[in-house]
Amino acid sequence: MVSADGEPEERMIEAALRPKSLDDFVGQKRVREQLSLVLEASRLRGRSADHVLLSGPPGLGKTTLAMIIAAEMNAPLRITSGPAIQHAGDLAAILSSLSEGEVLFLDEIHRMSRPAEEMLYMAMEDFRVDIVVGKGAGATAIPLDLPPFTLVGATTRAGLLPGPLRDRFGFTGHLEFYAVDELERVLRRSAGLMDLAVNSAGFAEIAKRSRGTPRIANRLLRRVRDWALVHGVQQIDARSASAALDMYEVDARGLDRLDRAVLHALVSKFHGGPVGLSTLAIAVGEETETVETVAEPYLVREGLLGRTPRGRIAMPAAYEHLGIEPPAGYAA
Ligand code: ADP
Repeated sequence: MVSADGEPEERMIEAALRPKSLDDFVGQKRVREQLSLVLEASRLRGRSADHVLLSGPPGLGKTTLAMIIAAEMNAPLRITSGPAIQHAGDLAAILSSLSEGEVLFLDEIHRMSRPAEEMLYMAMEDFRVDIVVGKGAGATAIPLDLPPFTLVGATTRAGLLPGPLRDRFGFTGHLEFYAVDELERVLRRSAGLMDLAVNSAGFAEIAKRSRGTPRIANRLLRRVRDWALVHGVQQIDARSASAALDMYEVDARGLDRLDRAVLHALVSKFHGGPVGLSTLAIAVGEETETVETVAEPYLVREGLLGRTPRGRIAMPAAYEHLGIEPPAGYAA
């Protein structure tokens, strides 16, 4: 996913903080080891790497890994996304201009149009596309050979991908939320690059509020940096970090505005549920997919929200977190 931060400075910093090699990439041990083997084997065979599918919530490192794959394979990288490919022709234009061994990163691959998806099947499997020329009865398909390339697809939910597409990836890696100590390592590295003085307790406080997500950790670090600058704080500690983050309405558990809105709606409008996902999304004024892929995974992991066959429910910890008494007879 592309950063939601619009400012060029923020984006420049984000780019500068991206790890450039697998060794620099913090956490996700299993995916890192498996990927490293896939890349090493293709280097030894002198072939382009197998297609790679990366899944997981936004901000966990999918784009970063695609960049690392290209760097480790010494190959150029092309970046595009599902929503940018509306017609099969858009995809044909990209595929036919790839150079040998190039890595094509396709973000939000589940949002590609159906005809483009079908073209991709053949391109991934046979390195070939059929370019359709003309319309109606006179249309003819001209086969076009493609150079071998590596597709790196990213999706916030692998379950949304049709089976035939999923099956064409040689390697699938699922990225998990990061543990607090891993986020501390991300923050230490970033603070070093930004030349910021933060003590251990300061790192721990920011990491705890980062929602298991490196992108958020780096963003909070920048907000804390601003706060420290304005308040003339030389070394950031737990107190200054928490004062800064309270100001930005990041709560002690790292929940953001959307997370809290979902919990609030669940508890106050729907009496703790169960309530259907789309109804819940309407209540918070968000798209269903955003609630499902951005807010929910973390709320579930934190034991605040439950998914049941009858709908979403608030867990006891949600009432506790919001400081609201559960209704009489509540038993989630
Ligand atoms: P996604 O594509 O999954 O939304 P990104 O790859 O864009 O996420 O990562 C967002 C930011 O988080 C990057 O700028 C990078 O600096 C940081 N980041 C992500 N994963 C890691 C990691 N494992 N180690 C260090 N920094 C990371």
